[in-house]
Amino acid sequence: MAEKKADCIIIGAGPAGLGAGLYAARDRFETVLLEKFYPGGQIINTDRIENYPGYQNISGPDLVMKMAEQVQTFGGRIVTNAEVTGLACRDDGTVEVRTEEDRYIAKVVILAPGSSYRKLGVPGEEEFRQAGAGVSYCGTCDAPFFKDKTVVSVGGGNTAVEETLHLAKYAKKVYLVHRRREFRATKVLVEELMEAVNKDASALELKLDSVVTEIAGDGKVQKAALKNVKTGKTEEIPCDGVFIFVGMVPNTGFLKDFVDLTEHGFIQCDPAYLRTKIPGVFVAGDCRIGAAMQLATAVADGVNAAMWMKQYLRDPDWWNQPLSDALSPAGWYADCRFRSTNNDSARKEFYINLFRLTINRIRLLTNTETVKREKSCASETGF
Ligand SMILES: Cc1cc2nc3c(=O)[nH]c(=O)nc-3n(C[C@H](O)[C@H](O)[C@H](O)COP(=O)(O)OP(=O)(O)OC[C@H]3O[C@@H](n4cnc5c(N)ncnc54)[C@H](O)[C@@H]3O)c2cc1C
Repeated sequence: MAEKKADCIIIGAGPAGLGAGLYAARDRFETVLLEKFYPGGQIINTDRIENYPGYQNISGPDLVMKMAEQVQTFGGRIVTNAEVTGLACRDDGTVEVRTEEDRYIAKVVILAPGSSYRKLGVPGEEEFRQAGAGVSYCGTCDAPFFKDKTVVSVGGGNTAVEETLHLAKYAKKVYLVHRRREFRATKVLVEELMEAVNKDASALELKLDSVVTEIAGDGKVQKAALKNVKTGKTEEIPCDGVFIFVGMVPNTGFLKDFVDLTEHGFIQCDPAYLRTKIPGVFVAGDCRIGAAMQLATAVADGVNAAMWMKQYLRDPDWWNQPLSDALSPAGWYADCRFRSTNNDSARKEFYINLFRLTINRIRLLTNTETVKREKSCASETGF
């Protein structure tokens, strides 16, 4: 088994991993992304993204291809078909990352293996999962495509209720199917749901104590079969889509003896700096506790992890420091650049810039005061 060294190893080349890869590679760190299949992650399964800033509408494959190319442009290396099977800490403070074929050693590892939607496991679900065929796991992403259509929504937790309310803003009719009578969602959300149901039952209808047993159609979803678990009664609902919100399964099985996981398998970390319990090991994207499960937030996580990586490399003791808002990225970045140079002219430039910044701030404050004074004068004199 070959042993390979890098400054930063990123596990997973989905949006979070690619975001991290871009920043790490662009900062001239030797960066390797280990990807189980091919770059892209979950978003590769959709042909229409409308909520990624900067793009009115772009397909998942097009977007991630651009992201992957950008990482490679800056020297980031993406290794495909490289499933990570285990990690270990070494005595010298580095981390060992193992795949079937190789062993990688790095001071920093960013965990970005993402998560997968929990499936219902009913006939038709796989068949209609392809983009545009009618089965979806993300209301925030796909609701607009079901404008004035009929959809079935499945689940009883916070996501299910929230997403159902979101769907109801677009669809002509939403059936919410839940296998119990009581919802697991928070009271506030359930109240909001009941209010919407009571306001217009023809637009939002509950199917309680019920499960979906089959999704069927010809090329596209046309109906869902339901069964009442108490009475055994079955029925068919004609619909254009089925939205499944029965939870996420993080791809973290290979990490369970290495970092702390929540009871559902999400990686524990501090929310500001994305540090896990292992020094040098950050986490980013859908696999972490508290993730918003969106493309933009996954990318942002990756960027954050790669930014904080520099802080760790500069000062390893930072890892154990408690959360502090005193250290803003902009502040330490300037500080980093300043400290990392022995060049006198760079130091001079740093102080000149700091001086300019201070003067500008004083000017700004004085202007604000002048405006305030002028406004109060104007009101006193009746203008
Ligand atoms: C059909 C669909 C449509 C969506 N549409 C939208 C949308 O329109 N807008 C939006 O904001 N969000 C959307 N999302 C959600 C969005 O795709 C995710 O939030 C985002 O992809 C999460 O990025 P990530 O990098 O954290 O994880 P992932 O995208 O899951 O990527 C993780 C990567 O890690 C790899 N990996 C996993 N385990 C290992 C391992 N052991 N070793 C090596 N590699 C590993 C995986 O193969 C994968 O490539 C959609 C999701 C789906 C499924």
